[in-house]
Amino acid sequence: MLLNCDPTDNEAGTKLLEDLTRNAKQVQEKVLEEILKQNAKTEYLGTFLDHGSSLDKETFKKKVPIVNYEDVKPYIERIALGEPSEIISSQPITELLTSSGTSGGLPKMMPSTAEDLDRKTFFYNLLVPVMNKYVDGLDQGKGMYLLFIKPEIHTPSGLMARPVLTSYYTSSNFKNRPFNRFNVYTSPDETILCSDSKQSMYCQLLCGLVQRHEVLRVGAVFASAFLRAIKFLEDYWEEMCSNIRNGHVSDWITDPGCRNAVSLILSKPNSGLADLIELECCGKSWEGIIKRLWPRTKYIEVIVTGSMAQYIPTLEFYSGGLPLVSTMYASSECYFGINLEPLSKPSDVSYTLLPNMAYFEFLPMEENHDGVPHEGGCNCISDSICIGTEEEEVESEAVDLVDVKLGNFYELVVTTFTGLYRYRVGDILMVTSFHNNAPQFRFVQRRNVVLSIDMDKTNEEDLLKAVAQAKLVIEPLGFLLTDYTSYADTSSMPGHYVLFWELRVRGNSDRPELDPIIMEQCCSAVEESLDSVYRRCRRKDKSIGPLEIRIVKHGTFDVLMDFCVAQGSSVNQYKTSRCIKSEEAFEILESRVVGRFFSKKDPLWEPFKIGKK
Ligand code: AMP
Repeated sequence: MLLNCDPTDNEAGTKLLEDLTRNAKQVQEKVLEEILKQNAKTEYLGTFLDHGSSLDKETFKKKVPIVNYEDVKPYIERIALGEPSEIISSQPITELLTSSGTSGGLPKMMPSTAEDLDRKTFFYNLLVPVMNKYVDGLDQGKGMYLLFIKPEIHTPSGLMARPVLTSYYTSSNFKNRPFNRFNVYTSPDETILCSDSKQSMYCQLLCGLVQRHEVLRVGAVFASAFLRAIKFLEDYWEEMCSNIRNGHVSDWITDPGCRNAVSLILSKPNSGLADLIELECCGKSWEGIIKRLWPRTKYIEVIVTGSMAQYIPTLEFYSGGLPLVSTMYASSECYFGINLEPLSKPSDVSYTLLPNMAYFEFLPMEENHDGVPHEGGCNCISDSICIGTEEEEVESEAVDLVDVKLGNFYELVVTTFTGLYRYRVGDILMVTSFHNNAPQFRFVQRRNVVLSIDMDKTNEEDLLKAVAQAKLVIEPLGFLLTDYTSYADTSSMPGHYVLFWELRVRGNSDRPELDPIIMEQCCSAVEESLDSVYRRCRRKDKSIGPLEIRIVKHGTFDVLMDFCVAQGSSVNQYKTSRCIKSEEAFEILESRVVGRFFSKKDPLWEPFKIGKK
C-alpha cells in the first residue's frame, strides 16, 4: 500500500485523493490485510494467537489488545538493545523516533522503517495539489520554511534515536528530493541540517530576508517554532542588516555548510535592501511585520490546532492579516491526515485521515463517570464526554474509520506498517464531516495534557509530582500549600508555565511572609522534576521561559470555587482544575496575586540514554 504521488501533477494528485477517500473502507481493509500478512510471524502478534491460527481481521480485533506505550515499551527497548526487529516487525526497524510524549520522564520511542520514509514523502507530495487548489501561483516563488534538526543519539544496538522531523530532513528522501517548482525554499539545506540551532536559525532568517521578494509563503512546522523565529529576528535584525549591507555573514557563523551556503546567497553588499529591512524593523510596532518584510507572502503555514491554538492571537498580530494554514496532522507513530480546506479558519480546521497510511480505529469517548457531570477539576471535554486517563482499561469497542459518527468524540488507535498494533495515540478527535466516505476530524486535545508551550506535554500527574517536590522546600519552613492551579502564559515569547499558589502559615491565618530565595527554589524544584522534553525545551532550545509561581491572597481558591459552582458545578463534587482555561477564572486568580517569583536557573537536562532514567 505504498503509493506514489507526483507533486507537479495536480490532476493526478486530486484524483488520488478522491479515490482514497471514496474507497476508504476497501483501502483500510487492504492496509490491515497487508500489515497482518507481513507481520503475522512477529513475536508480538504471536503472543496473542493460538498456535497455527490465521490472523484475519476478526481474530485481530478479538485477540490483539488495544495498548498504551507502557505495553509495547519492553519490545521497543529490546530492539534498542540489539534484539532483531522481528520481535514486532518483519521489515527491519531502521531507527527509533523520539516522540514529544514521555514515559517515565523520557521520550517515548516509536519504531520506523526505510519504507516509512517513502510513505512520508507520499504524504508531503499530496499536500501540494491541495494547496494549489486554493492558492494560485505557488510555483512563481519560494517558501521561507524555518526547519530544524536536533541531535541524534545511538542506541546500544547502533540504531539511531531522533525526532521524526530530524529523521526526515536528514534522509535522502528530503536531501535528494527531485526539483520541482513547488519545493523551492529560501533556506539552503545546509542551514536546515546544521545541528547548532542558533546558527541554523540565524542563517535561515538571513537567507529569507535576502530573498524577501521571492517569498510566497512562510512557515515552520508548529506555531511555537515560527514565533520563536520572529522573536529571534527581533533580537538579531540589526546584525542581519549589517551582514546584508557589507555582503558578509557574521564571524560567529562557523558551521562550514552554513557559511558557504549563506555566502553564496549574500554574494554582494546590498545597502538598499539593508535600509529597507531596517526601516521596517526599527518601527515602533512589529504589528504586521511579516507582510511588510515579505510583501508577496500569501499565507503562513504553521500548525495552529490543538495546543498551538494559544498562539493564534500573537501570530495574527505579526501576520498583517495573512491566513494561518495548518496543513497536516502527524506524529512520530504515523503521519495521519491532511487538511483538505487549508484556508479555513483555525477553529474550523479538520483533518482527513488518509486511509492508506495505517489502519485506524476509534475508541468512542465514554459518557462520563456514572453520568454525573464533571466538575471544575475535571479535564474532560464537556460535561458529558470523559477523556479518562492513559492507565484506564479500554472498555468500549473500537470502531473502524468509516463507522465513526458525525459529532462524536473518539480516541485514535493505530496499527502501523512499522510495528505498532492497536496503539492508543492519546489524541482525542471529533468527527466534523465526511469527504466522500472518509471522515474528517477536528483535533480536540491530547488526552490528559494540562500544560504545553512548545513540544512539551505536561499532564496532571507530572504536575502533581513536580509540585510535591516544591512542597518539600516550603513545608519544613511551616508553609502549607492549600491549593494550586496552572496556566500556560504565552503572552510573551518564549511562553512559560505559571503556577498559582495559595499558601498558609501553619497555625496562623496571617498573610505569609515569603522569602524570594525560597520561592525561587520552589520554582526550580518544580522545573527539575518536570519531564525531559520540558527540561530540554527550557535549557537547550530556550523555547520555554523560566517557570513562575504567583502567590494569591488567602481565600482566592474559594472565590474560584464559588465561580465554578455559579457556572453549574456542584459543591459536593467540586475539584480545583489543575489548569485554568477560562478567562474569567484567570481574572479571579490574577486580580488576587500578591507575589511573583521566577526560576533563576535552567533545569538540568542531558540527552537520554536507553535503559537509564
Ligand atoms: P510527536 O509524537 O512528538 O511527533 O507529537 C505528535 C502529536 O502532536 C500528535 O499526537 C498530536 O497530539 C500533536 N499534533 C500533531 N499534529 C497536530 C495538529 N495538526 N494539530 C494538533 N495537534 C497535532
